[in-house]
Amino acid sequence: MTKNNISQKIIQKARDAGYVDCNLIDISTFDKFSEKVKDRIDIYPEAEEVYQDLLTRRDPKNWFSKAEAVVVCTWWYGQYRIPDKVDRYIGRNYLFDGRNNYSENYQARKELEKYMNKLGLEYRKGGVPDRWAAVRAGVGSFGKNNFIYTEHGSWVNVETWLIDTKAETVNRENNLPCPEGCRKCIDACPTGALEAKFRLNPRACIPYLTYDYQGLTPEKYRSSMGAWLYGCDVCQNVCPLNAGQWEEKKEYPYLQEIASKLSPASILEMEEDFFQEEIYSRFFYSKDIVRWKMNALRALANEGDYRYRPLFEKYQNSEHRRLRKMAVWGLQELAN
Ligand code: SF4
Ligand code: SF4
Repeated sequence: MTKNNISQKIIQKARDAGYVDCNLIDISTFDKFSEKVKDRIDIYPEAEEVYQDLLTRRDPKNWFSKAEAVVVCTWWYGQYRIPDKVDRYIGRNYLFDGRNNYSENYQARKELEKYMNKLGLEYRKGGVPDRWAAVRAGVGSFGKNNFIYTEHGSWVNVETWLIDTKAETVNRENNLPCPEGCRKCIDACPTGALEAKFRLNPRACIPYLTYDYQGLTPEKYRSSMGAWLYGCDVCQNVCPLNAGQWEEKKEYPYLQEIASKLSPASILEMEEDFFQEEIYSRFFYSKDIVRWKMNALRALANEGDYRYRPLFEKYQNSEHRRLRKMAVWGLQELAN
């Protein structure tokens, strides 16, 4: 099979499976990416461990020694209905996570992988900086908020595979999509994590604070984190390039059924068994129900709803220090 043939066949199959775009690129190293990561380590040395893992992605051969090309596809998740406005608590990317085995995205991935097997290709999923690969492949461009922008705005997931066969790249134009002078994402970032264009302080970013941070949420961020329980979409929601790009054409499986359980008050009343089965199984960056409840207390306090005062009083006596401390803080906020 010729290089051109391989590319055309994979691109066509990806589109048939439901990906909105796909292209193939060679496996030259991602040197500029690696330079940027090192710059970030100099600026944010306290976040070095977050970055070290990324550095291994500079060279695709580190991940798969037989790699000869990279397949880059984009999946549009802005096509799903958002039930009960639950996206004010949970980032949309996580609500419509393509890694859930009942999602269409997951089925599309399996279909494409089956096809690559049928073509006799050996492949490995991932192993490169996905967003940088997307830009090199021309399936998207960086916005100043570091998200990848496409004809569907930034509501896309980028997926990559390394394959063991050389393939032709169809070259495409790639320009900065942001209007001249726009800095709405930077100005809107609640915690100031997006400090300048393309520059994010990872330790101040709400997704990190909601599902990765170990311990009691630092007081300096609590008020500005608003009602987010898991992730944050503010810098994408305010972006003019995303205006009109969410279409709510379809139901995402099994989301409506649990949407009402994703409010802060429901999380605070949730039992561990239900949490593990219904919540952690979908939002798998945080299996710690105490962290979820701590986030829920902070979210309720920021929403300022006095009706929930008894919940704060209950958690003031919790066996968990994080919950006791957050409940005390929440009561003070409600009183102000
Ligand atoms: S995800 Fe939220 S906290 Fe992080 S940069 Fe964007 S707006 Fe700021
Ligand atoms: S808000 Fe403006 S600067 Fe930020 S990503 Fe969107 S268009 Fe670019």
